[in-house]
Amino acid sequence: MPSIADNIHAFEEKIAGTGARLVAVTKTHPVPLLQEAYAAGSRLFGENRPQEMAEKAPQLPPDVEWHLIGHLQTNKVKIIAPFVHTVQSVDSLRLLQELDRQAARHGRVIRGLLQFHIAQEEAKTGLSLAEAEEILASTEFGALQHVRLTGVMGIATNTLDEAQVSQEFNQLRSFFDALKVKYFTDDTEFREISMGMSGDYALALAAGSTLIRVGSAIFGQRG
Ligand SMILES: *Cc1c(COP(=O)(O)O)cnc(C)c1O
Repeated sequence: MPSIADNIHAFEEKIAGTGARLVAVTKTHPVPLLQEAYAAGSRLFGENRPQEMAEKAPQLPPDVEWHLIGHLQTNKVKIIAPFVHTVQSVDSLRLLQELDRQAARHGRVIRGLLQFHIAQEEAKTGLSLAEAEEILASTEFGALQHVRLTGVMGIATNTLDEAQVSQEFNQLRSFFDALKVKYFTDDTEFREISMGMSGDYALALAAGSTLIRVGSAIFGQRG
């Protein structure tokens, strides 16, 4: 069986030259496995629950970038505000305002990605392009100083239909391009397109992903 380190090195090879980075999705896995990933070179970790992330973070070195990839309720923001690097699942102005408020209390800036609904499945959450634009054009958003949007994120439909998955990734890419031109032309930090997981990362890379979020293909199936 390949080790966690073997799997990470294999992914680093796959993304070499693409400009994309690997987010090791560590949700449900115990800290020793995260330490193994760290030792193999991983520095970006993705968790989907604030509480679990807050318990693990102090047990890893401080140069880990913690990415929250699951839905975040505003009342949970304070749990992760002292250390979270990027909230990839930003889906409302209210959440941005709370991130700003809590980041300010800690004298820091929290990065965020706007999560878009690109899948055909009802359950997958996220914004439409119109909803994202409403946020970006608002005076409330313009006033925020401790939260910084650095790109977009999306989850494709869980299907074997590769044409459909590719089409969804291309749509996310086109949302990114549209927002970049209209709201972030001079902002070099608005550059992330987070898409692709264990089952569809290759299609995501082909569509221009800059962050692939990989769990089971590194750590094995979650219990
Ligand atoms: C769990 C999760 C992943 C990783 O999924 P794998 O199929 O295990 O690679 C990626 N993105 C999000 C948002 C997740 O919740």
